Amino acid sequence: MEINLVSDTVTKPTQDMLRAMFRAEVGDDVYKQDPTVIELESRVAEMFGMEAGLFFPSGTMANQTAIKLHTQPGEQLIADKYAHVYNYEGGGASFNSGVSCCLIDGNRGMITAEQVAASINDPEFYHSPLTSLVCVENTTNKGGGACYDFEEFRKIRKVCNANNLKFHLDGARIWNALIATNDNPTEYGKVFDTISVCLSKGLGAPIGSVLLSDKATIHRALRIRKILGGGMRQVGYLAAAGIYAMENNFNKLPEDHRRAKELGAVLEKLNWVAKVEPVETNILIFSIQSNINEAVLMSKLKQKGISISAMGHGKLRIVTHLDYREVMHTYVLETLEKMIL
Ligand SMILES: *Cc1c(COP(=O)(O)O)cnc(C)c1O
Repeated sequence: MEINLVSDTVTKPTQDMLRAMFRAEVGDDVYKQDPTVIELESRVAEMFGMEAGLFFPSGTMANQTAIKLHTQPGEQLIADKYAHVYNYEGGGASFNSGVSCCLIDGNRGMITAEQVAASINDPEFYHSPLTSLVCVENTTNKGGGACYDFEEFRKIRKVCNANNLKFHLDGARIWNALIATNDNPTEYGKVFDTISVCLSKGLGAPIGSVLLSDKATIHRALRIRKILGGGMRQVGYLAAAGIYAMENNFNKLPEDHRRAKELGAVLEKLNWVAKVEPVETNILIFSIQSNINEAVLMSKLKQKGISISAMGHGKLRIVTHLDYREVMHTYVLETLEKMIL
């Protein structure tokens, strides 16, 4: 049994999803003539209380487009030090938009309105970059799947309004946050200028993200997506996977969360584990005792058919997902419990 817990992006389309893809009605989406893409874009927009959506091949391109929409070269965005837009998008913020990042030392990838307020450069002080954008993640990736208290978003929005800043949500795992917090998704549309959501993480589609905003902003985003090479033709086949994923897989996320919590509970009892970070959703980060060799642990797990990822400094990461089934879960729990290091 091969069990891949490295990421929730490793899932493969099921027969039913593939059938939905093959049945899709398509057209040339560069001319906005693909009805399936239009349906996906409007469904996601409606769900999050936004006017319009735009389909992207990746979350990275959707985030990079948002940064480009909200900034001018030389300006600065504010984000947590763990932010995907800063750490994992190949330096795109500086490459595509010519902006620098002011990084906040937040809590598990989450920042507060107070921290944002303290990080804004005085716009009259022309020696410093002009602060123009705040980016947050929900759930946080490197922060271990942590979820914001929605009230903090409202507070950050106020700070943005008072300082003429735009507010972007990297919602690659927003679905997991909605399940964990019971937040009403339409509230998100009231607080953020733009939101990116991924269909290829917890929802299990093979590809795709959607950027959400008001109509005028999405119209501008169309040009940026074109510049970045993200204009695609009969892409309704892929959008159909996204629609299928929203309809059928969103409701399965609680299982991923339960399994991650159960794995965390088992790890906490093991003597070679130093610390298990709180498990809120489908990401579990834990650290091992300093006398334990990370590479040895990883290879022992690998021999048992289990892959997880190392984050460096003795920290390891497990991510549960749609293709991690109950039989596998039982086996992983048993294997961990019996593991001697
Ligand atoms: C996965 C992820 C993205 C987008 O990644 P792509 O691989 O480009 O789709 C963006 N932000 C966060 C927090 C992510 O975890």
